[in-house]
Amino acid sequence: MAPGLLGIEGLDRAEIESYLHRAKAFQSHGASNFKKLDTLRGKLLVNLFFENSTRTRTSFEIAAKRLGADTISIAASGSSVTKGESLVDTLNTLAAMRPHAIVMRHSASGAPHFLARHLETPIINAGDGMHEHPTQALLDALTILDHKPALEGLRVAIIGDIIHSRVARSNVHLLSKFGAQIVLCGPAPMLPPDLAKLAPGVVLTHDIREAIDGADVIMMLRVQLERQHETPFPPGDYFRFYGLRPEHLTLTRQDTIVMHPGPINRGREISSEVADSKRSVILNQVENGVAVRMAVLEKVMGVQAA
Ligand code: ASP
Repeated sequence: MAPGLLGIEGLDRAEIESYLHRAKAFQSHGASNFKKLDTLRGKLLVNLFFENSTRTRTSFEIAAKRLGADTISIAASGSSVTKGESLVDTLNTLAAMRPHAIVMRHSASGAPHFLARHLETPIINAGDGMHEHPTQALLDALTILDHKPALEGLRVAIIGDIIHSRVARSNVHLLSKFGAQIVLCGPAPMLPPDLAKLAPGVVLTHDIREAIDGADVIMMLRVQLERQHETPFPPGDYFRFYGLRPEHLTLTRQDTIVMHPGPINRGREISSEVADSKRSVILNQVENGVAVRMAVLEKVMGVQAA
């Protein structure tokens, strides 16, 4: 199997640390005068998205360009997938044009893992169904480390539609490898008891106040309407029980940070006051997404940092 990045679960601490270390070198910290590098000059990246994306797709593209690579982005709605071509045939077709890596997002959990077994081109998972979203967990870790000295011992509350969330799964894998305490919180249909088995020490609660009690990090999740087969909670009811609001922040410490992978639904899982507050690091997450994806592309496309 070609070396790519399919998930966090299969990585060890040293591999994760090496991505984070390299990403730190690429952080722009709000500066817009980033100097374009030619590390990946002559390399071609294909971005293939079968599901919608704003942040992930754009930041992979920006990351590739900052490293000097050429990129093309394909949305499934504009490709021959809509003419009935199979996933394997689409990927083989793209691989025949010899890109140096393919970034792929797909609604089926495991799709990139399956394809990686059949292709020589490295595949980077940009989100597969409700399974993993490895670069999101890496950029989340990088963002947490901008505000906290270490991941070890941190109490992280992940709140919302846990069952359908690839962001939650990748974060649980990453944070548990570094000894963080993880509390998963959501309504019963979004938090089946089995999720406690995701990693050792994961605690479940249906009570948002219990989840945020003593939390260093609060990670809110979007309700994944596109992955739900049941009747969704009315947004108002969901917000009343699981939306993060200013009164919740008063129960936390001054240095508790609020994260969200985006896209955010104001008034459903988070209030505008919280999303736009000083505690919110949501836009820092977006910014760090570019740095993390640069580190990943550099490694996967064959230029290993020393
Ligand atoms: N952007 C994240 C994802 O693709 C989170 C979300 O869509 O809710 O999984």
